[in-house]
Amino acid sequence: MIALRRDLHAHPELGFEEVRTSGIVAAQLAEVGISVHRGLGKTGVVGTLKVGDGTRSIGLRADMDALAMPELGDLPYRSGTPNTMHACGHDGHTVMLLAAARHLARTRNFNGTVHFIFQPAEEGRGGAKAMVDDGLFKLFPMDAAYGLHNMPGLAPDEMAVVAGPQLASSDSWEVVFHGVGTHGAKPHLGRDAVTAAAQFLTAIHTIVARRIDPLQPAVVSACAITAGDFNALNVIPDDVRIGGTARAYSAAVRDQLEAEIGQLAQGVAATFGITVDYSFKRRIPPVVNDADVTRRALLAAQTVTGRPVVTDFPPSTAGDDFAFLGAEVPGAYVWLGNGPAVDGALHHNSRYDFNDEAILTGARYWTALVEQELR
Ligand SMILES: [Zn+2]
Ligand SMILES: [Zn+2]
Repeated sequence: MIALRRDLHAHPELGFEEVRTSGIVAAQLAEVGISVHRGLGKTGVVGTLKVGDGTRSIGLRADMDALAMPELGDLPYRSGTPNTMHACGHDGHTVMLLAAARHLARTRNFNGTVHFIFQPAEEGRGGAKAMVDDGLFKLFPMDAAYGLHNMPGLAPDEMAVVAGPQLASSDSWEVVFHGVGTHGAKPHLGRDAVTAAAQFLTAIHTIVARRIDPLQPAVVSACAITAGDFNALNVIPDDVRIGGTARAYSAAVRDQLEAEIGQLAQGVAATFGITVDYSFKRRIPPVVNDADVTRRALLAAQTVTGRPVVTDFPPSTAGDDFAFLGAEVPGAYVWLGNGPAVDGALHHNSRYDFNDEAILTGARYWTALVEQELR
């Protein structure tokens, strides 16, 4: 499995392009007699293993995709594909679930149905939603869904399992101020969208500070801005386009962020006598762990790690589209240590690598979870 993990690392594929990876996954599942369904969400694979007459059914999810970024480390198995890199450890996630599936197919020490969900395109390309839209829950009914992500900073035999919010909603917004362009020397003859945009950017941070409940986490960031031309510094442009992200852990705060950003943009535009277009694109809901299912995950983690399971790990303001599974059935998303961040190489860093020492812990966790959940 270590050799396979390094092979996947050397051959990373972007979201919905995991043709080689999903082919290997499907072959490894079929080899041990697991029934395989391919093509769900384009390159997604679901392996189903039913043992005994138990009626309970669960889904275990691993993501398979890499990121569009260069790998700058000097690993012997570094990416051979330009600008494509497993910088989030999904190579490790794939291998750990495969290892558990193959072990469970041989030992069959449980009673019920387990679906091994190998998801494409987790990194912002909508793989989980594509699988759900293609009928994941209709074809493979399940009572609970489980997810796992590696986490630098925890030891490779250490896990963190916490009920409640784990990852934030991840939505994007865009504001376009439409002024009236004019000569830079004669601003009074136009309507200056640049000044309006500057006011908006200053005021946007009052949304979290002054409008959201101080006890509710939220993030609003402006991350892109386009206006004017540096070859024409005597021209006030017509339009200024600004885009950013919004994060929350509850549906109520998410709704509020959508409303507040738009209201502020409209207010600023009115103040400056210009117009504005506003759009808010809902991408990923928050990942919120169900209490009962999380208790089952915690029991499994306690069985396999040689140390206490971390139960007060802080939530992350990143997002994960496992949320689309957790929105359909009760879910639990847990963290598995990746060891220290070598040279500061955290997720999405060009020198990040999944820690092979974690494979055994992760595979044991999935195995114990199935054997305990489907007793
Ligand atoms: Zn990632
Ligand atoms: Zn990831």
